[in-house]
Amino acid sequence: MNAEANSAWAKDKAHVLHPYTDFASFHDEGSQVITGADGMHVTDTDGRKFIDAIAGLWCVNIGHGRREMAEAIADQVMKMQYYNPFGHSTNEPAAELGAWLANHAPGSLNHVYYTCGGSTANDAAIRLVHYYFTMRGDHRKKKIISRNNAYHGATYVAAELTGIHGTKNSFDKVGENFIHHVSAADMFAKPEGMSEQAYCDHLVQEFETRIEQLGPDNCAAFIAEPIMGAGGVLVAPRGYHRRMWEVCKRHGMLYIADEVVTAFGRLGHWFASEDVFDHQPDILVCAKGITSGYIPLGATLISDEIYDVISRPQCEGGVFSMGLTYFGHPVACRAALENVAIIEREGLLSHVQEISDYFQSSLRTLAEDRHVGDVRGIGLMAAIDLMEAPEEKRPFAASFKASDRVFNACLSQGSIVRPVGDRIILSPPLIIEKDHVDQLTGHLRNALTYLR
Ligand code: PLP
Repeated sequence: MNAEANSAWAKDKAHVLHPYTDFASFHDEGSQVITGADGMHVTDTDGRKFIDAIAGLWCVNIGHGRREMAEAIADQVMKMQYYNPFGHSTNEPAAELGAWLANHAPGSLNHVYYTCGGSTANDAAIRLVHYYFTMRGDHRKKKIISRNNAYHGATYVAAELTGIHGTKNSFDKVGENFIHHVSAADMFAKPEGMSEQAYCDHLVQEFETRIEQLGPDNCAAFIAEPIMGAGGVLVAPRGYHRRMWEVCKRHGMLYIADEVVTAFGRLGHWFASEDVFDHQPDILVCAKGITSGYIPLGATLISDEIYDVISRPQCEGGVFSMGLTYFGHPVACRAALENVAIIEREGLLSHVQEISDYFQSSLRTLAEDRHVGDVRGIGLMAAIDLMEAPEEKRPFAASFKASDRVFNACLSQGSIVRPVGDRIILSPPLIIEKDHVDQLTGHLRNALTYLR
C-alpha cells in the first residue's frame, strides 16, 4: 500500500459511512482529518490550526484537550469501567450525577433516565410520556406535537419529531399517526408589519387549534428546543415558550424541553427553560454539553409528578422496558461530573453571560454585508443567513452553494464554521475570549466577499 492509500482519508473513503452525507460524492470533495485539539482550536494532519467555532458539534463546551477530563475518565476506567445497569445494581458516578442534575434542573425534575446521546434521550422522553399516560389509564393520550424546522435527532422516533425539510427523504415513516407538527417560532418568517406580540398570539392560537383538531384527549405532549438550533438558531418571540407551556397545562399535556444544545452553559445557565424562558418543563432532555463531548451521554429528566405515577406499585403493564446496555455508564457519568465541576470552578456560566454580548454584537456588524439577510442569536449560539438579495428575501441558487463557499473561505483563513442550507451556524466553546471573537468575525467578513 502506498502512503496515499494508507492515509486515514483513504481508509475512511474505503470503509466509513458518514452522517448527513451523500455517499456518492462526499469523499471527492476534499479531505480533512482532525488529529489534535486544544482549548479553542483543532489541528489537522497538515498541522493547520483552526478556531473551532462550532464546539465540535454544539458540544465541546469546556474546550478541547482538558487534562482533568482525561484524568477523571482514566481514573474511573481503572476503578470500574462498566457493569450491568439493569435491575438492582448501580454505580457511584450515575447516582452522584443523578443527584447533581436533580439539584440544578428546574422545578421538580428529580429523576433521570440515562441514554447514549440526544436522539436516544428524546426517544426515551416519548416512551416515558406514553408509559405515564398508560399508567394513568389515559390510553388515548398518545399524540405528540412538534414543530416544523425542529431538530430532535436521528433515531427513528427522534427523526420523526424533527421537522427539518429534507431530513426524512427516503426513510419510512414511523410516526405518522402520532407525531404532528405546528409552525416554527421564526421571527424572520414573521409577516411584514406584524408585531412580535401579535406573532406570538398567532403561533399560540395555531397550537390551540391543532390540539382542538386532534382532540385534547388524544394529545400527550409538546416538544420544543428553547432555541431551534440546527433549524437555524431561531429565537422565538418573547413569552412564546411560557405561553405554549400554559396551553399544555390547560389541556393536560406534558411539555418536553429539548435542551440538548441549550443546557450546560450555552446560554449562560445550566438550563435555559426556567432561567431564560420562564417555565418549568415536565420533561427535560439533555446530552452534548453534559460531558462536553468527551464521551457520549444523554439524560432525560422527569418531574416528581410523572415519577409518582410510573412508580406506583403494581402498575398495569409492568416495567419500563426500554433497556440500554450503556444506561448510566460509569465512565460517561464520571466525565459529566468532572465537566460540571470545571464549569463551576472556572465560572464559565458568568463568563458566557459576559462574553455573549460581545460575540453577538461583533457578529451583527456582518449584517452590513450585501449578501447577509439576517444575523441573530442568543448566548453563544448564532446564525448568519446568506442571501442573493436580502431586500427582496431572494435566496442564492442552490447550485451556487453559498454556505459552502463561506465555510471554505473561513477554513482557509483558520476558522471552522458550520454551513447548513444557506446559513452559517456558530456555537463556539464557552471558553471563547474577545480576541477569538475578533479573529472569527474577521474571517467571516473576508469570507463573505467570496459571494460576490
Ligand atoms: N436534539 C437537539 C436539539 C440536537 O441539536 C441534537 C443534535 O444535534 C439532538 C437532539 C440529537 O442528539 P445526538 O446527535 O446526540 O443523538
